[in-house]
Amino acid sequence: MSETMKAAVLYGVEVLRYEDRAKPTLQSPDECLVKIGACGICGSDVHFYRHAKIGQFVVTSPMSLGHESAGTVVEVGPAVKNLKVGDRVAIEPGVPCRKCEFCRSGRYNLCPDVVFLACPPYDGAFAEYLAWPSDYLFKLPDNVSLEEGAMVEPFSVALHAARRAGVAAGHWVAVCGAGPIGLCAIMAARAHGATRIIVSDLVDSRLQLARKLGATHTVNLSHQNMREAVAEVTAGRGVDIVLECSGAIPAVHDAVEIVKQGGTVQLVGNITAEMPQIPIQRMVERELTVSGLFRYANCYPASLELISAGLVNVKALITHRYPLSETPTAIKWVDENKDKVIKAIIEP
Ligand SMILES: [Zn+2]
Ligand SMILES: [Zn+2]
Repeated sequence: MSETMKAAVLYGVEVLRYEDRAKPTLQSPDECLVKIGACGICGSDVHFYRHAKIGQFVVTSPMSLGHESAGTVVEVGPAVKNLKVGDRVAIEPGVPCRKCEFCRSGRYNLCPDVVFLACPPYDGAFAEYLAWPSDYLFKLPDNVSLEEGAMVEPFSVALHAARRAGVAAGHWVAVCGAGPIGLCAIMAARAHGATRIIVSDLVDSRLQLARKLGATHTVNLSHQNMREAVAEVTAGRGVDIVLECSGAIPAVHDAVEIVKQGGTVQLVGNITAEMPQIPIQRMVERELTVSGLFRYANCYPASLELISAGLVNVKALITHRYPLSETPTAIKWVDENKDKVIKAIIEP
């Protein structure tokens, strides 16, 4: 008889059960068994809870949620060389095939055969244990907590965005949206040497946190105009780079106008509108680079280093903590109190 563990499992629209599941076992010699210590609630977990699907990804059989996780190694396979029992690790949730064109060129986030936590049909990390390949586990420095280890996941999205956009020393950057990813984008831009960081949102408390994390100017869109604010801060020149983290169409319109001629608009937020109207001719005549983004690649080591060195404060984003048994109520509460929550963490 196999051993069991507790997990928060999604059965369909708004049916999330805290229940017993089979405890995972090592499936290959290079895997580790990790006891999960912290797992963040992401917008995608909330979306799966409400709709049982995201785009083409549909939950057709029971699936545990959660992909922003960290934990402690409790068992290592015979081929594991980089970790030992007792090590604390951040878990990179996407394991690619390692063989395709994209994997071999280093852009493994684009691998068509990636196994990603809590993306159907694969189970997630709102559970007590996870068996995972050792090369997608990253040892936490002693001064990095499990909670911070879980925050490496959202921060890596922002780091990947700053890298792709080419944020460099002395750059002026605008960040649209001060949710978890936007707040991480501020810190990623600052870590790359951006000197003016203008941040927009609709919620004052988020903008206050944005300032604490490195925003030099903030714009509350409920009564201020982003285009006017950027024109003022940059004396009409525009910013070098926009990191668009809101997914809101009006913000995309703003981005195309507040970036300098020849600048880069890095799209980060998911656009949910199916066929949005966007000003393509303005992109053409202003010779903009408009860049897409999907998750991240090769970001975990640098993210951990920045957190450990104290250059990035992901802890500041954590506003709520819940035990694993309360995952169903936690996800519901987070969804209904978006203005109060930045990041909630499940701690099994
Ligand atoms: Zn996430
Ligand atoms: Zn691949």
